[in-house]
Amino acid sequence: MIVAGRVQINGKTVKELGVKVQEGIDQIAVDGKVIDSKEEKVYYLLNKPKGYVTTKKDPQGRPTVMNLLSEVKKRIFPVGRLDQDTTGLLLLTNDGDLAYRLTHPSFGVEKTYEVTLKGQVNAVTLSLLAKGVELEDGVTAPAKVRMIKKDKDSTTLELTIHEGRNRQVRRMGEAVGHKVISLQRLSFGPLKLQGLPEGSYRKLRPSQVAQLI
Ligand code: URA
Repeated sequence: MIVAGRVQINGKTVKELGVKVQEGIDQIAVDGKVIDSKEEKVYYLLNKPKGYVTTKKDPQGRPTVMNLLSEVKKRIFPVGRLDQDTTGLLLLTNDGDLAYRLTHPSFGVEKTYEVTLKGQVNAVTLSLLAKGVELEDGVTAPAKVRMIKKDKDSTTLELTIHEGRNRQVRRMGEAVGHKVISLQRLSFGPLKLQGLPEGSYRKLRPSQVAQLI
């Protein structure tokens, strides 16, 4: 937003990154609208269905996760990203500091997925997924892998990773020769879906927010 010239400090547009401001003294605006740093912070858990794009606005006009939270009047945004065809837990908030900490690789927040892969996954492949697989952006960090079910044509695993690379689980599957049939995020740090129906959302309680911070 800064580089795009959308941010003003004390009424003047800044395009340079890293300018320091003083809370309560400098006035920050985005697109001419003043940001109130004292605005109440809100946190919502969404069970994202398939077919929704994780973005605030899609230039191609596809449905976005924001359409599912249209009743929320605060300027929230998604923390991290789920692919259009991935379902499951997505956190949305207006708390930029927390969003940064939850998504920055140095904090290593655990994310657990239930992933169904095409074909039968053998023990060697399971240990490969756990140890790390070679992707075009480097070897993946050790992951926790647990077999949930295996049948003739598919294998369902629970996979816990603490990196957040783009399309990581799908690429890990492909790297070991198994295409992903379905992918659902079950948990994000301490947050779990806990029976939240697909397409629904709920506000986090202060005690749940405290666990994140
Ligand atoms: N890994 C993926 O491949 N896709 C997601 O949406 C999340 C994790």
